[in-house]
Amino acid sequence: MNSFFIEFHDPLFGIIIFFVIVFLITIFSYWWAKYKSKEHTKSLDNFIKDFKTIPSSKDMNMLISKGDMSEKSWMLLATLYSKNGDYEKSIEIYSELLKITEKENERELMYLLGRTYFKAGFLERSKKIFLTILKDNPRSPYVLHNLLLVYEYMKDYDSAQEVLEPLDELKSDIELDAQYLKATKIIYSTDMKSDEKSKELLAIHKLNGNLTYMIFDYLFKHDPDLAWKNLDSSKCEYLSDIFWSLQRKDLNFDIISNNGYLKELYCARGDISGVTKSNIFEFDVLINLEKKSGATLKFEYICDNCKHVFPFAFNRCSNCHSIDTSNIEISLVKDFNRDFLQENNSFQ
Ligand SMILES: [Zn+2]
Repeated sequence: MNSFFIEFHDPLFGIIIFFVIVFLITIFSYWWAKYKSKEHTKSLDNFIKDFKTIPSSKDMNMLISKGDMSEKSWMLLATLYSKNGDYEKSIEIYSELLKITEKENERELMYLLGRTYFKAGFLERSKKIFLTILKDNPRSPYVLHNLLLVYEYMKDYDSAQEVLEPLDELKSDIELDAQYLKATKIIYSTDMKSDEKSKELLAIHKLNGNLTYMIFDYLFKHDPDLAWKNLDSSKCEYLSDIFWSLQRKDLNFDIISNNGYLKELYCARGDISGVTKSNIFEFDVLINLEKKSGATLKFEYICDNCKHVFPFAFNRCSNCHSIDTSNIEISLVKDFNRDFLQENNSFQ
């Protein structure tokens, strides 16, 4: 019976104990490594979280008033917040800095605060700030130009036009702004009739050929005959999307047949025939595949000044605020409208 038990002094007992100790050490080492790795990941997560979270308003006010960071550094931080679209934080920093800043930096801070309010869409606050700056510094073209933008976004075109006068006195180039504001005021006027608006808009365009897209967009929508009659054939490419969406009943086939670009465009759309190829890739594909391609044109609008791309047409770039800088980029996309119509027809 005793042969089944290992004696205390038996060498086998020592070996078993040794292996048990080795096993326990291995288990403990494995557990310890796993625990440390978990802790490391947790602290790394917290570290990254610290960078993602932004200080609360209270913390920020305290930090600014303590003066550990220079005003310039705070301004840089506010600019970064603004660039990333966090206008609230940017406004908080500028507002706190205004409480402690020297008189000489006040104007610059107010200007930046006004700009941030404008970007954030607080137009009334922005207007008040720019008007306050102008009270003591009326000869400030940057502030005047920003005030003009604020009035324009508020659709207060009369006030915007009044700002042009001091800008003109300061030798700023206001010609395009003046024409643009005049045209915008006409388009949004509730007192003028449509034919009166068309006539005045055309008169603005005839001055020096500016605002082609803005004016012909209105004309083709409200008086296509007048638009065709006054169309400058060299500017057809700027109006590609307008032509592409024109209804067939509004087309002037005499003008189209005498204009190479329009002939290709309307052949690609399937309104006319007789064109077999085009140097414009998108038109060429649509012309050669006729209506079998299942594709249509997609338009994007690139600002010639800041190169920002927009999915919609614009007359004043909302990024750099320049006027008449929109350029059209054409691409091919699947014609979902055609698929939808085909599906609807198949149900009938
Ligand atoms: Zn731009």
